[in-house]
This record gives sequence, C-alpha cells and structure tokens, in this order.
Amino acid sequence: MPEPLYILMHPLDNVAIVVNHGGLPAGARFANGLVLTQAVPQGHKVALVDLPQGSVVRRYNVSIGETLRDLPAGSWVNESVLHMPPARSLSALPMATVAAPATQPLTGYTFEGYRNADGSVGTRNILAITTTVQCVSGVVEFAVQRIKAELLPKYPNVDDVVGLEHTYGCGVAIDAPDAIIPIRTLRHISQNPNFGGEVMVVSLGCEKLQPERLLPNAVRASIPAAALDVVCLQAEQHVGFMSMIDSILQSADKHLQRLNARQRETVPASALVVGVQCGGSDAFSGATANPAVGFCTDLLVRAGATVMFSEVTEVRDGIDQLTARASSPEVAQAMVREMAWYDAYLAQGRVDRSANTTPGNKQGGLSNIVEKAMGSIVKSGSAPISAVLSPGESLRQNGITHGLVYAATPASDFICGTLQLAAGMNLHVFTTGRGTPYGLAACPVIKVATRTDLARRWHDLMDLNAGRIADGEASIEDLGWELFHLLLEVASGRQKTWAEHWGLHNALVLFNPAPVT
Ligand code: CA
Repeated sequence: MPEPLYILMHPLDNVAIVVNHGGLPAGARFANGLVLTQAVPQGHKVALVDLPQGSVVRRYNVSIGETLRDLPAGSWVNESVLHMPPARSLSALPMATVAAPATQPLTGYTFEGYRNADGSVGTRNILAITTTVQCVSGVVEFAVQRIKAELLPKYPNVDDVVGLEHTYGCGVAIDAPDAIIPIRTLRHISQNPNFGGEVMVVSLGCEKLQPERLLPNAVRASIPAAALDVVCLQAEQHVGFMSMIDSILQSADKHLQRLNARQRETVPASALVVGVQCGGSDAFSGATANPAVGFCTDLLVRAGATVMFSEVTEVRDGIDQLTARASSPEVAQAMVREMAWYDAYLAQGRVDRSANTTPGNKQGGLSNIVEKAMGSIVKSGSAPISAVLSPGESLRQNGITHGLVYAATPASDFICGTLQLAAGMNLHVFTTGRGTPYGLAACPVIKVATRTDLARRWHDLMDLNAGRIADGEASIEDLGWELFHLLLEVASGRQKTWAEHWGLHNALVLFNPAPVT
C-alpha cells in the first residue's frame, strides 16, 4: 500500500485531510505514528489529537465547528459529528486593517488581443446577438444556425456567433427595485469585451423589457450608430418567418464584416479581466487548486490586470478576513453591504448560507459551508481588495481597470459566470474537485482539477492538474506560474480550452431576485 499521507493546512489545526486515492483503512499508520481508528475516505478529515465532545475543530486555523461526541485521535471527522458555528456578525468587523503586502510590479508579460474603442480588450472575436425576451429564443437559435452555416465561413477572423438567450424580459415585475439586477446584467453582457463593441438586438415588440429600457439613451450614446441595431419580430414589415430570419441575417452580415476586419495585436497582461470561481468543490479545492489560483491572482494583480472573485455564500464565513484586506474603509463597508443584502435575500426564502453545500461537497470531505468558504476564499490570493461590484454591475462603467475586485454574485456556477461576463470578464478560471464540464460560449473557461484522479479520468475536459501539489510533484508556486502562462496562451488564441475544443457551452442564467408575475 502507498504510504499514508495527510495535508495539514495550518500548524494550529487539529484535523488534516487524507491524501491517498481511495482513502485509507482502519489501522493505517502515518509517518508520525498516528493510527486511524476507522476507515477515512480520500479528502476527508482525520482527528490529529483526541477531541472530547465540545472541542473546537480547526482547519485553516479557523473553527469549522464543535464535536458532538468524543473523538479519539485517528477518528474520521465529518459533518455528522460537527456542530456548525453561526455566521459571523456583520458588526464590529476589522475594516481595512491589513497593510498591503510589499510586492513588485510584474512587467513584460503580454498577450495577443483585440483592442476595443472603449479601452477594453477581447480574447475572442465573437458576434453576440442580444435578446430582450425569451419569446425570440427559438427564432434567434434558428438564425444563428443559418449564420454559422452561410455567413461565418466568409469571415475567418470571427470565432463564433452566439445568441444571448435567457428566460427574462416578460412575465416579470419589471419595476421592482431588484429588477435592475437582471436588466443591467443583460445590458452589460452585450458590451462584453469579446463582442467587439457590436451590439445587435433581437426584440419581440410587446415585451416588458423594451430595447429602450435595455439600452437607454445614455448607453446608446457610447455605441457607434453603425454598431447598434434592433430587429423587431412584430414589426409590420415582417410577413412570414423567413422575413424575420432574412432581416437577422442581413444585420448579422454588417456586424460580421466589421468584426472580421479586427486583428489581434500585442497588448500588456494588464488588459486581462479574469473571473475566478469554483464548482463541484471538494476538500482538495482549498489545498491544491484554489491556492494555486490565489498565487496566480497575485501575479495578475502585480501585472496590472483585473481579477474578480465572487460567490457570496462561499466568502460569508470569512468576511472578517476580507474586510480586513479591503484597501479602504469604504471598500470594506461595500463588502458588508453586499453580505447584508444577501443575508436578507436568503432569509426571505427562510434559509441561510448553509444551504450552499451539496451532497457532492460532503462526499468530497467538506463538512459544512464554513470549511468550504475557507477553501474558496484562497482563490483571492493576498492582494488588497480594491473595489466591490454589486450583481450585474460593470467594472468599466464603475471606472475599475485593474486590481483585485470583489464582484458579489450567487455561488451557482452559471449565475456567477453570467454576472462575471456582465462585469467585463474576458477569461474565466474555474476550479473543480468533483468534476464539472462547465463552459461558456462568450469567454474561454480554463478548468483546474483539484485531484490527479479527476485530471486522469477527465483528461480531455480539465485544462490543468493542481492535484500534482497533493502528489508532491509540484508546488503551489509552480502551478500558479503555470496557470499564469496558460492564461496568456489561451487569451492569445494560441491555445483552446477543452470546453472550447468540444463546444461545451452552458446557458446564461440571470440572477433575478425580483418577483415574477
Ligand atoms: Ca460556483
């Protein structure tokens, strides 16, 4: 049998996770003499010392709960023997108390990207067709197939054509205060850097989300007239379905001509806008993939890029760490504002942040949301948090062009990805332990596996294997640098992600906290 190994996250922790593939049997003896009193699955926690009932269990040097009964050293510590602590109060938090770590700017790194008129840079050159309402989705899908078959071959510089389909637009309380979230999300996605400033809208005509409401005059003023048009299916001119399709194809052809004229040029790495996220997490997420992403986040911030981390319920239990790392008391206050809003949102549905964890998380060794959050936060690295976005807001509209940003979103993979696209993401990093084939049509998604077993089985879905850290074959720094270089290759279009290779595109999912009618 291979030598029994565990990973300790902090010297003051009293539990550690089992590394060995397939777990370890009762009686397995670690090098320090600790013997398992029972079988412990891979990624699950083992008590390093005797933990009498009521003991505080520490991982990441944070209490992840108290033991419900006596657990001798060598016991399996899982959710059934832990009482989860309550959420940290949002008052009396340390506000901007941590001094920024001394770092040197990272210079000389570039990629080949598409410069946009607004100063943003695309990593892909895509024609997006924005829709105001779900009613037009079938028509747009039909048109997209025709555009791909008949027009796209004429424009080799254009990577793809994407219908931005969604379930919003009508049958909703569109004047409810929180309706601003889905509306501005759609508005800002249409201006994502990968769409080249071309905004083509297909509307039905009678829907609540009228094109004028999706793109008010102030927004239209920032889009060149030639780059903006609206095809309305209920317009009198349309007689028959093919009239609608012809109209969409004619519009698409004009946008494709302009997009095709664009060329990649060398731009500094500071033009990257990277959204980081995790999904299908396990206990290795916080030990391998997320720390490597955190190291890469620090590199990107030093290079002047923008990095967003998100997922409210996966940072809520570490809010004190985050407010302490804010670059100013105002930024810390904005973080508290987003947490309080989300607490109230969850309370409306009579749940709290503990509703986050999945059966797969627990099978993977994560006992509760506190433990999951501690592993999730490390994606943010160590840089100061310099700005906060509310769901659906845009970095550029808020004047943010660099630094580590907290973009508040649900943890749901597709909703988080959708909101990060709206913020202006041009590259997505996604870590997974259980495995998910997640991908987005609008932006490359680089998937990082937390375990070698997953990377081996999903060899044509995972882009990077951070399990090599647990195997002792690479350090967190090695993987962080490898990811940094991979991001530049993918951004330049020199390398495709596996999700791009297979054309795996999850649907956009809007966050609509407002009522439907
Ligand atoms: Ca997620």
